[in-house]
Amino acid sequence: MITVGILGGGQLARMMALAGAPLGLRFLVMDSAADACAAQFVPLLGADYRDEDALAEFARRVDVVTFDFENVPAESAEWLAARVPVFPNPRALAVAQDRLAEKSLFRELGIGVPAFAAVETRADLDRAAREVGLPAILKTRRLGYDGKGQFRIRSEADLDAAWAALAAQADRVGLILEAFVPFDREVSVVAVRGRDGEFRAYPLTENWHESGILSASLAPASAEASLHESALMAARRVAEALDYVGVFALELFVRDGQLLANEMAPRVHNSGHWTIEGAEVSQFENHLRAVLGLPLGNTASRGVSCMLNWIGALPERDVVLDEASGHWHDYGKSPREGRKVGHATLRADAPEELAAALDRVGAALDRREQVAPPATRLRA
Ligand code: AMP
Repeated sequence: MITVGILGGGQLARMMALAGAPLGLRFLVMDSAADACAAQFVPLLGADYRDEDALAEFARRVDVVTFDFENVPAESAEWLAARVPVFPNPRALAVAQDRLAEKSLFRELGIGVPAFAAVETRADLDRAAREVGLPAILKTRRLGYDGKGQFRIRSEADLDAAWAALAAQADRVGLILEAFVPFDREVSVVAVRGRDGEFRAYPLTENWHESGILSASLAPASAEASLHESALMAARRVAEALDYVGVFALELFVRDGQLLANEMAPRVHNSGHWTIEGAEVSQFENHLRAVLGLPLGNTASRGVSCMLNWIGALPERDVVLDEASGHWHDYGKSPREGRKVGHATLRADAPEELAAALDRVGAALDRREQVAPPATRLRA
């Protein structure tokens, strides 16, 4: 019996455990939150990631370690890696944790990126604004997610306010100024690389955000084959450069037919949730296959899928259950503003069928704005 240890016990760990059950796997999650939602049916080791005694117990009880949360301290990942196999490797985790390191890597690999510059002081911010140009976004290098730790700078008049908002973070997690990209669309590649180096990618996914949080994902994205191909090649170069093992996501902006890499997530990703019902083998199962050294699964999509995120609170479940290809995911979390509490995936064999299902669900749940962008794209 193999036990997979997961650092972080949120919905990603929960969906990973659900995918691992048919493979006969056991799980142990480590999380400091006693109410971590994966712990509703996965054993929990409740402790801080820096607690060495707890890390030692965790290492003793599991055969392999992976992550549901990328902001696990790199030292803890390294400490574990000296005792038990850890995938992805701690270096890959460290690069993906730092917006400056990941953007520098993308650039080295010849992948397009928005102009960017490191910012440590107020004077740096002025210099960076001249170098990068305005409008721009000042972001924390580390520990930012879902649009948190970001300040949008429209003109020079906003520089003081941006510095006031994020100066306290400059020493702790560092800052980066990035050119604002007036993108046409946002897409992501969810891909997997095995222990033997085999690489597979899911079809390109188009994503829409609301206040910096993913709202809807549509896959396969309707885009020219060349765009699919260059996104996939970019993901492959990143994975190979980091000797990455497991599933990861590369988020990209599309501007005038060109791709600009925004960031990578060194884990299963929200924009890959559609693969549970919409692909032959889901991102969760493929992540487990990769970290365990099993054969990778087929990443081909089944028809077209749209995932809708439920942020803050769940809407009326039965509207989705009533759909012929409606799939409901309740993460078992209590409602809270800005919190991801669940998602739904609608799947269909043909684009028009999926667009009609989105219209019905959007109208019944009074969420027309959320379903409109993917429904419009499906009809384009
Ligand atoms: P991030 O946390 O970097 O993924 O940012 C969250 C969202 O903010 C992205 O998905 C975009 O919608 C938006 N965003 C972030 N960076 C930029 C940028 N440089 N230009 C335009 N929009 C951005």
